[in-house]
Amino acid sequence: MKTNTKYIFVTGGVISGVGKGIMSASIGAILKAKGLKVSMQKCDPYFNVDAGLLNPREHGECFVTYDGAETDLDLGHYERFLDEEMTGDSIWTSGKLYKRLIDDERAGKFGGRTVQLVPHVTGLVQQTFVDNAKHFKSDVHIVEIGGTIGDLEGSHFVEAIREFPNKVGRENCLFVHVCYVPWLSTSHEFKTKPAQNSLRDLREFGIIPDMVVARMDVDRVIQAPQVASKLATFCGVAQDAVVLMPDAKSVYEVPLNAVQGGVLAPLERFIDHGDPDMKQWEELVEHIEAKPEQTVKIGLVAKYVDNTDTYLSVTEALKAGAWQAGVGLEIVWIYADEATEADFADVDGIVVPGGFGVRGVEGKIAAAQYCLEHDKPYLGLCLGLQAAVIAAARRGGLKGANSEEFGAKAGKNVVYIMPDQKGKESTGGTMRLGDYPAKLSAGSLTAKIYGTTEVIERHRHRYEVNQALLAQIEKGGLKVVGKSPDGKLVEFVEAPECSFFVATQAHPEFKSRPYRAHPLFAGLIESAKRQV
Ligand code: GLN
Repeated sequence: MKTNTKYIFVTGGVISGVGKGIMSASIGAILKAKGLKVSMQKCDPYFNVDAGLLNPREHGECFVTYDGAETDLDLGHYERFLDEEMTGDSIWTSGKLYKRLIDDERAGKFGGRTVQLVPHVTGLVQQTFVDNAKHFKSDVHIVEIGGTIGDLEGSHFVEAIREFPNKVGRENCLFVHVCYVPWLSTSHEFKTKPAQNSLRDLREFGIIPDMVVARMDVDRVIQAPQVASKLATFCGVAQDAVVLMPDAKSVYEVPLNAVQGGVLAPLERFIDHGDPDMKQWEELVEHIEAKPEQTVKIGLVAKYVDNTDTYLSVTEALKAGAWQAGVGLEIVWIYADEATEADFADVDGIVVPGGFGVRGVEGKIAAAQYCLEHDKPYLGLCLGLQAAVIAAARRGGLKGANSEEFGAKAGKNVVYIMPDQKGKESTGGTMRLGDYPAKLSAGSLTAKIYGTTEVIERHRHRYEVNQALLAQIEKGGLKVVGKSPDGKLVEFVEAPECSFFVATQAHPEFKSRPYRAHPLFAGLIESAKRQV
């Protein structure tokens, strides 16, 4: 392990949802732009062991890491901002920590000692920091503490970071507190009291931050210097360590806004490593702010239209595709339960994203059928491939074709449960998860788009295409163009009669980056562009 690893701990105050994750990732991006090796980690207070069984409506997207962990969507931000693949251990929930400790206790690993919050829980939390820094060979390891300061359920994480400087040296730890400063429209002023209170709560734990990030929902620069001096005076931080962050139009503006807001002074006192090269971010923001003449409309046939965070990586991948193609993007949410042909006709291209359960699936199958029959650009992601296969089999004459997930019987089950998945349907961490390779048919559109015949994508599924019924699927207009290297699993299909109809059993959206669109999303947008 590098002995000179530095650690940054990011806590939040006042309310959640003010962009602590984006701010943490932006600090990471800035340090990376200085040429440092940066890694990140989230500590989340909830007791679910991972995000796999959480309802997406409540929790947003389940982000899958290459090593097959089902995690929080914050890890997606980390990957997009750092361009670094996280691991399952880049997130530690209270559930995962306690499970590990209790398993160790049951295995007799404590030699008769009493197992306690301090030092055992806190010690394990600290071990995760060190292990992550070691795994990534980091110069700087950033740890985001989920929730807000003072939450009872997050206190073991806060206690762990309070103790940590004793182990690695205070000079190797930077504490950042992100809090919210509301604007009172009646009296026309910012109110710093809630932020002061949250900083007091932090001090009660024994932590005096080195940097305070004040998130403000309106950009009223005239008032801002007073906010900084007030927070500095009341909270015992240097004035140049208070960074004011008004709302950004796009999250990808935050790294540049943070530099402008003065993040470099406190960061450089902590780690001096030259100026950051922010060119990548400047170019990206130029793309985002450009006003292209042409806009493509992409319909997302989705189940959770009331929480679009469920599809965060998909929408980010679509945006990246549009920025790369130099077109504007309008995402049209098509509620799968009520989707009609008119909805499909109205857009220039369609994405059917991943999903579980029968609700809305007929709308997704109808979308695939419409695209097959009207040469409308289609990108199917996991369930989106299965919906396409069902649509094709029905067109190919197999009446009642369906997935076993939705009750299909033998002979009609064009999508069936993988044998090793039987009986595990409602359990956590048991799907076919993470990176798996696929071999693409040379000469296929998919291979052309990827520019290679060997690809690796992340997965999260239990069901698979039933190759015994391939004849009907092919008769309905689809061709298998990618399989697992042993040929047992279908990974990619396309419709040779259509200009762009590609579906994958994987989730390519997780590997898209804002400044490097995933080829399948870029391909969809390019094809949709020709439809306008
Ligand atoms: N429900 C399907 C399966 O388990 C699709 C999963 C997904 O879209 N991620 O195979």
